[in-house]
Amino acid sequence: LVRFDAVQKTFDGENLVVKDLNLTIHQGEFVTLLGPSGSGKTTCLMMLAGFEVPTNGDIYLGTQRLNSVPPHKRNFGMVFQNYALFPHMTVEENIRYPLKTRKVPAAEADRKVAEILDMIKLGEFARRRPTQLSGGQQQRVALARALVFEPQLILMDEPLGALDKQLREHMQLEIKQLHEQLGLTVVFVTHDQSEALTMSDRVAVFDDGIIQQIDTPSNLYEYPANAFVAQFIGENN
Ligand code: ATP
Repeated sequence: LVRFDAVQKTFDGENLVVKDLNLTIHQGEFVTLLGPSGSGKTTCLMMLAGFEVPTNGDIYLGTQRLNSVPPHKRNFGMVFQNYALFPHMTVEENIRYPLKTRKVPAAEADRKVAEILDMIKLGEFARRRPTQLSGGQQQRVALARALVFEPQLILMDEPLGALDKQLREHMQLEIKQLHEQLGLTVVFVTHDQSEALTMSDRVAVFDDGIIQQIDTPSNLYEYPANAFVAQFIGENN
């Protein structure tokens, strides 16, 4: 579905942050970009979302070259840790917003919003404002807003980073279930090894702007490609 082909990203003409990225993400896959802070994960996601343009190389969606397609012309849902909800809108209005901007007819929008409120178990909060919700509930609303227009791809950057451990584990399960139930294609960024290993079909381990290894969680664990992967995957496990 998505292919990074020899992608590089340089900031300020000299700071080579993504060095040579080759990565294919298949339809229906849950792929996590895992690595220490500053290793280039977010920059990769930003290029996929369209907020950053590769300095060299190409990104494809199917056969379409995406490099300079603006974010609003990519049919991608996004959930970022700091991608805030609109504070002046209710939960329902927040979720309806992407349908409005896509000019989905009102009756169809009503149906989709009701469906997603039910699926993500937010029905009883529909008329509240984000400030009247807990952090976990707010992230569920953000998830509903990202899913409601049935995007081709869901991009998530540390979506659970602000939650406490228990809630985090609960939401990991919930996201994983939605992925399976809806057949979503997900690209997920985290620096948390256990989160990556429990949620993903495949994990790309980043270090210093390079994918050190991309493989299934069990293969990464059992057959790390080098000392960095072995040490990084071994932490917190
Ligand atoms: P984190 O988990 O801390 O977000 P990361 O692996 O996602 O780390 P990136 O956010 O991709 O890493 O950042 C990689 C490097 O690129 C960092 O050194 C960062 O300072 C630099 N960088 C990111 N965005 C920009 C920008 N817009 N301008 C200049 N430098 C940037």
